[in-house]
Amino acid sequence: MRMSQLYAPTLREAPAEAEISSHALMLRAGLIRKLVSGVYSYLPLAYRTLRKIEDIVREEMNRAGGQEILMSAIQPAELWIESGRWNDMGSEMFRLKDRNGRQFCLGPTHEEIFTFLIRDEVRSYKQLPLLLYQIQTKYRDEMRPRFGLIRAREFIMKDLYSFDIDEAGLERSYEKMYEAYCRTFERSGLEYVVVEADTGTMGGSASHEFMVVTDTGEDLIAKCSKCGYAANIEKAECVAPKGLNADRVEIDGENPKEVITPNIKSIDELSSFLGKSGKDMIKTLIYLADGQPIAALVRGDREINEIKLKNFLSAFTLELADEATIMEVTGGPLGFSGPIGLTGIKLVADEEVPFIQDAVVGANQRDKHLINVNYGRDFSADNIADIRKAVEGDACSKCGEPIEVVRTIEVGHIFKLGTKYTSALGATFLDENGRERPMIMGCYGIGVTRTMAAIIEKNHDEKGIIWPFSVAPFHVTIVPINIKNSEQKAAAFKLYKECLNNGVEAVIDDRDERSGVKFNDADLIGFPIRITVGPRSLKEGKVEIRLRQSGKEIQVPLGSAVEKIKTLIKEAVIYEDRCSDSGI
Ligand SMILES: [Zn+2]
Repeated sequence: MRMSQLYAPTLREAPAEAEISSHALMLRAGLIRKLVSGVYSYLPLAYRTLRKIEDIVREEMNRAGGQEILMSAIQPAELWIESGRWNDMGSEMFRLKDRNGRQFCLGPTHEEIFTFLIRDEVRSYKQLPLLLYQIQTKYRDEMRPRFGLIRAREFIMKDLYSFDIDEAGLERSYEKMYEAYCRTFERSGLEYVVVEADTGTMGGSASHEFMVVTDTGEDLIAKCSKCGYAANIEKAECVAPKGLNADRVEIDGENPKEVITPNIKSIDELSSFLGKSGKDMIKTLIYLADGQPIAALVRGDREINEIKLKNFLSAFTLELADEATIMEVTGGPLGFSGPIGLTGIKLVADEEVPFIQDAVVGANQRDKHLINVNYGRDFSADNIADIRKAVEGDACSKCGEPIEVVRTIEVGHIFKLGTKYTSALGATFLDENGRERPMIMGCYGIGVTRTMAAIIEKNHDEKGIIWPFSVAPFHVTIVPINIKNSEQKAAAFKLYKECLNNGVEAVIDDRDERSGVKFNDADLIGFPIRITVGPRSLKEGKVEIRLRQSGKEIQVPLGSAVEKIKTLIKEAVIYEDRCSDSGI
């Protein structure tokens, strides 16, 4: 490719909308352009990289026994109604009607559709296991699309679905996928961590996320550097204080006392007003769990983990109650709820709550709180459970060492679904004894466009992108210092042709620009190798090879430059060579 012809409109400055490096660099280097909020066009450089990531994904899925298919993005509503998710998906789902008024959606995921595909075709245990996947465009009408390709409304995803005859089969499929995911991200040059995750609206029994640690990530994970435990913050277990069941009834101190707290609603305001710390307070929040009000209690300086609470209650939906409900349930306005005298609704207290001595709580009356409140003596809860968010420094639930909380981007997610969809949609098979049973299902996603963004997020400097060789849009850019110099031009084009003849993906910068401009663009676009054809080295029959990642420069004879580059590429993507013999 000639640089003069390459459709990569670069920008000197990143547009203001770009909040993170990958977004800014993809716009600046001419990889993507926005169509509308959260919807992008992938220009040649981006699309070349996306295809390389897809190829790695494809190879690893095939190696693990997957078979590639392609399904429509348009899905009929009936199947979602059958699975019970038509309403669950809420406004995140793009919905549309055809000319006859039949309802459809643009697929945010494909569990229903894959299950539908096989339910009438697969009848016998002999046809299982079956692992089908596609690499396809997905749609989610995000409330707040942001960070470029990280949170987009249209994105490319690989989704694989496994169908097995029993739990042991699912376990094998899951392990194969786990391994395939590790290989995929390693080969893509992406550092990642695998964390335990909540199964959320997907349902199912177990789930892992593949996360890329970066300050600009939207997901928080807890990780322990001592034992390696890592979990999504939604899932990360908190360790209960010791002696949880100790008898807390024998409290000698003063009885609860009312204090006037005019217009004080937040824990911070209350802290400074009473001169007490959040640790001495109990926060009482009223939720609607499947429409029923419940009270959740947590230490004042803690946050409720709504996922844990929802799971604990086995609730389908959980949302904070509106002011009218709070008034009705507690008798007081928002901001003054407390556990004393709260009858008729379920109280769920976090495990720390019984240990707070002489606590401050809301009095369920406007502008009033109670002090000297103790669990056991003054109130009790229906349930005590781990319902708080883990925080930095909490004891690791596995080894007790302090955990670290870091920001991450999710690039892959695998789930053991069990029979949630196969039962709902009637995907059954006959086992060896002729009995009809639902298939056991797993699902496994990789965000392809998001992976590209995450690779840039992890591999860049102030000058631009630093592509890993395996996913770089091109391996090499050849830059003649002065294209008008016939000797330089001839040498550069000779090298360029030789690259193409040897399968080296090369761009020649044939533009009549200053060398500084060409070097800056080469750094911005992030070619792993730059070959400079300049007057001084050329006099000695040499060219300069510069590596984008290390900045290392070497002079090599013109005649052996391409051999040298082939070696460099081979060394950089050696992982592929090493694992290509395991039987695709
Ligand atoms: Zn640990």
